[in-house]
Amino acid sequence: MARKFTESKLVLASHNPGKVAEIAELLAPLGIEVLSAGDLGLDEPIEDGATFIANADIKSRAAAQASGLPALADDSGLAVHALDGDPGIYSARWAGPDKDFTLAMGKVNAALDDSSDRSAHFVCALSLCWPDGHTETFEGHFHGYLVWPPRGDNGFGYDPLFQPEHHKETCGEMDPAQKHQISHRAIAFEKLLAACFIK
Ligand code: IMP
Repeated sequence: MARKFTESKLVLASHNPGKVAEIAELLAPLGIEVLSAGDLGLDEPIEDGATFIANADIKSRAAAQASGLPALADDSGLAVHALDGDPGIYSARWAGPDKDFTLAMGKVNAALDDSSDRSAHFVCALSLCWPDGHTETFEGHFHGYLVWPPRGDNGFGYDPLFQPEHHKETCGEMDPAQKHQISHRAIAFEKLLAACFIK
């Protein structure tokens, strides 16, 4: 059985204001006050884990230890099957220092070359860590195919390249509210809420 969250405050181990706002909104109905690592001036740890879960754990542990409060962290990326899971945990890095995702999508397409397997999935790992070191982790996968050229201006990152299974539009063309209901993040949060937050 997963440990239940009974506290009133949670630190979100992210310095990204967009991510903090999105997650605070998800937790608001539960009456939990969400503080961000950025607001508390916490240092960002080096993410040198070998998996999405390991990187989420590094971030949640660092924030829980530094703040003395339970902390939630996420780590996400795109895993391309014909590339043995690349760019994977390096998804942000493939976009280079300028965070250029046109470049990153081009690199993925070039690496695929003429492979007939264009299947891929987005991954979202969540780690909830308490100050005593106990952690609960969850992972959500969102399956689809890579199109070329990329389509649509909605979303972020690799969204214009990714067409979810059973859908005709890419995540770049899809209404963001629709993507948020079916995404890797939605699936991982559903698991987290069911295990730790719903009594
Ligand atoms: P991080 O979890 O904030 O480190 O993000 C990792 C990278 O994965 C992002 O910079 C995006 O490139 C990619 N990524 C994660 N989730 C998505 C998504 O929903 N759409 C598009 N790209 C994503």
